[in-house]
Amino acid sequence: MRIVVPVKHVPDIHSDRGLTPEGRVRRGAEDGTLNELDENAVEAALQIVEALDEAERATSEVVALTVGPVEADAALRKAFQIGVDSAVRLGDDALAGSDVFATATAVAAAVRTLDAQTPVDLVITGMAALDGLGSVVTSLVAAELGLPQLTLASRLSVEHGQVEIERDLDGVTEVLSAPTPAVVSVTDHVNTPRYPNFKLIMAARTKEITVLGLSDVGLAPEVVGAQAARATVVTSAPRPPRPDVELVTDKGEGGLALADYLIRNDLV
Ligand SMILES: Cc1cc2nc3c(=O)[nH]c(=O)nc-3n(C[C@H](O)[C@H](O)[C@H](O)COP(=O)(O)OP(=O)(O)OC[C@H]3O[C@@H](n4cnc5c(N)ncnc54)[C@H](O)[C@@H]3O)c2cc1C
Repeated sequence: MRIVVPVKHVPDIHSDRGLTPEGRVRRGAEDGTLNELDENAVEAALQIVEALDEAERATSEVVALTVGPVEADAALRKAFQIGVDSAVRLGDDALAGSDVFATATAVAAAVRTLDAQTPVDLVITGMAALDGLGSVVTSLVAAELGLPQLTLASRLSVEHGQVEIERDLDGVTEVLSAPTPAVVSVTDHVNTPRYPNFKLIMAARTKEITVLGLSDVGLAPEVVGAQAARATVVTSAPRPPRPDVELVTDKGEGGLALADYLIRNDLV
């Protein structure tokens, strides 16, 4: 079983985030990390492999794949810490400014290249990147690859060449299945990502990351990056702070202060 997990390097949600004057997400190496929702995708892939019998496990591989500049290696190192077997970064200056379509084109081309080396059975993504929040790269990748897509899985299993998921809708849980190879996205309810252990943290520092360029995955520079973007960020401005925020420091009487606030504002 070979599973590719596309992972995104995003600004830490606890960091001071912002946009560049061109409206792009400001990205720096220092506070970038693995998109938290992609940890669920990595965990799901590891659990699928761990459930296989010993012989199948021995020939299985979980590959973390990112599209981004050298700083994005930080996301791959984190994926190594969680337990992936190998990591690939598709990086090229021409990718800068890629919109969701170009990003999906790049991810799909990298998956196709990996598949040509050793067949890929599954692509598992997170349900969204916490900076772009498009929630669309998964579907676009499936479309580019011409593969079935099963999105927003809260449970996932693979057996006899079929992937089956549960998908929680409002008051209904759907069970969907598709033949592999397929593209699946998982929610944050699908599992609890494991904490990296010390041994993996140490090993992740020196693990090899395979770096591919656009020509390695058969893409021309014109089909990605700002030059290929179908939509443009026209303006962007930080949201002004909310004026009516009343902060209560809880020194044991926070509950009373909250009740007082609700009464004063006629909210009860
Ligand atoms: C009009 C427009 C202009 C933009 N311009 C820029 C720009 O100039 N510069 C810029 O940096 N960004 C830009 N972006 C953002 C860029 O399109 C997104 O960062 C990227 O397309 C991924 O989309 P997302 O973050 O919404 O991912 P989602 O669709 O929310 O991600 C879903 C899943 O796809 C996978 N995934 C997403 N991105 C990657 C990746 N890079 N590598 C591997 N797996 C991935 C992950 O598994 C993730 O959980 C722009 C977006 C728009 C809409």
